[in-house]
Amino acid sequence: MTTVVLASGNAGKLREFGQLLEPLGMDVRPQADFDVSEVEETGLTFVENALLKAREASRVSGLPAMADDSGLAVDALHGRPGIYSARFAGEPKKDSRNNALLLESLSEVPAERRTARYWCVLVLLRHAEDPVPLIVQQSWDGEILTEPRGEGGFGYDPLFWLPGQRRTAAELSADEKNRLSHRGRALQALVAQLADGAPTS
Ligand code: IMP
Repeated sequence: MTTVVLASGNAGKLREFGQLLEPLGMDVRPQADFDVSEVEETGLTFVENALLKAREASRVSGLPAMADDSGLAVDALHGRPGIYSARFAGEPKKDSRNNALLLESLSEVPAERRTARYWCVLVLLRHAEDPVPLIVQQSWDGEILTEPRGEGGFGYDPLFWLPGQRRTAAELSADEKNRLSHRGRALQALVAQLADGAPTS
């Protein structure tokens, strides 16, 4: 078994990543087990921020580390909130305030121009100075509603309408969301690269 540190404190991510990577001989452990503290996300892209998080987790733990960074890019807002999705409405970070600001920012935008997509970048560093990290990025297309629907998911999910599903991301089951989402498919793509023989050390 290769131990891999997940640069996140999110229990849901840990479970999901652990389940998919266990068959490949990887034991995914939370960064809290190694006293890794949160780094400041100073990058200007998802990939930079994911690398910052994974590098710190690998540096402190001395083990391979993975991290994801994600966000919502709205076409009518020229890709905003993007890397600032979690703190769109400022600190303290709060989903309800972010969603209210998103609705307000799009109040003049008609239905046909409310297209958006979630992005997720996932990186795996074999060690803190790894010059060739494994990197995957996936997106998930949707549209921003004018009012929330559904209780599941988190963040912008109640506003994120999936035309193909005739539901919002917050109306999907956890399994459905894992299969379809930007994060779920980034993880599947990383697993495919590893299963294809990408070295883990
Ligand atoms: P992080 O990648 O955990 O830093 O998340 C960035 C932010 O993007 C979250 O706080 C949410 O605001 C937004 N976001 C990313 N993925 C999702 C998702 O699957 N559903 C809803 N919001 C998301």
